[in-house]
Amino acid sequence: MDHAGRLRRLQEQLRGFDAILVSHLPNIRYLCGFTGSSGVLLVFPKKAVFFTDGRYTEQAREEVKAARIVVSRKPAILAAAEFLAKQKLGRNARVGVEAEYLSLANRGRITFALGKTFRLKEAPPLVEMARMVKDEEEIERITAAVLMGASLFDTTLKTVRPGIKENEVAAEMEYVARRAGAEQMSFETIIASGKRSALPHGRASEATVPRQGFVVCDFGVILAGYCSDMTRTVYVGRPSGEARDFYEAVRAAQLAAIAAVRPGVAVGEVDQAARKFLKRIGLGRFFSHSTGHGVGLEIHERPRVAAGQTEILQAGMVITIEPGAYIPGKWGVRIEDMVLVTETGCEVLTPTSKELVAV
Ligand code: ZN
Ligand code: ZN
Repeated sequence: MDHAGRLRRLQEQLRGFDAILVSHLPNIRYLCGFTGSSGVLLVFPKKAVFFTDGRYTEQAREEVKAARIVVSRKPAILAAAEFLAKQKLGRNARVGVEAEYLSLANRGRITFALGKTFRLKEAPPLVEMARMVKDEEEIERITAAVLMGASLFDTTLKTVRPGIKENEVAAEMEYVARRAGAEQMSFETIIASGKRSALPHGRASEATVPRQGFVVCDFGVILAGYCSDMTRTVYVGRPSGEARDFYEAVRAAQLAAIAAVRPGVAVGEVDQAARKFLKRIGLGRFFSHSTGHGVGLEIHERPRVAAGQTEILQAGMVITIEPGAYIPGKWGVRIEDMVLVTETGCEVLTPTSKELVAV
């Protein structure tokens, strides 16, 4: 990974800040390679310093390449603030912080350590913006994660049957994922059966899969740091014509959104493509969430593929396309693929068929 290049590009964008204190771990990983769970990165226009504690001495030396490493007995954030206080940055130095990820308590600690000559300011989301466009190595890793994640669907199909608990299905999938080399699941596996399929976030529960009905299966793995995310909805028993039509409507909405993905298009238009289709056939009000999100080091990243969002798609972005429709007390269907924006359009990374499967 080109950590030095990423840091340099961030440094070129620091305009107006004497330093930025990066405390969000995925941003730290992106910029300097550190994969541990405790650390802070201080980025100055001409240098970068990484702070961690004694538990990570070895790991930091191995992983962090583009920044100087300071191992401290104090919490990393305090060590970083004290280091900053000793820099000769002049009066009213401006230090950027990641307001989304800095607790009020840590803000207080930093302010106390820095004294009055520093001004803490919310930094723009420069790292998050940079992370939206993936480089070749990231796309390779994401593709590998997507393929491994998709392979778990075979286990889903073998396991889902009337009478089994949703948790058992999830457990089988997670066991297979670990055996296959996944670091962990990228979020809590969703297995939502029967009436629970109408819950867009129906985490696997102790509920038993009924003899008849949809089962929404939404799952993903983390491989080499990168997440996968996919949803397939299967039918237990023999689907009625109404169930088939409902499923096909969601599938057509998903395809309409995918057809809208290309560089230069605003993400809001991609959302609109799915939403417009479901509205036209009277299911608009049952599509209660956004169409998708960016995926990478985190399961939910920029851009949000949602109504009214103006972010413009660029080649190298990886997003999900996951419209759904949910009728409370009855059933729900969601279909989700991961999609890479290419120079000319897009490539659907998820290899799994979207034909309705009855088990
Ligand atoms: Zn998902
Ligand atoms: Zn998703």
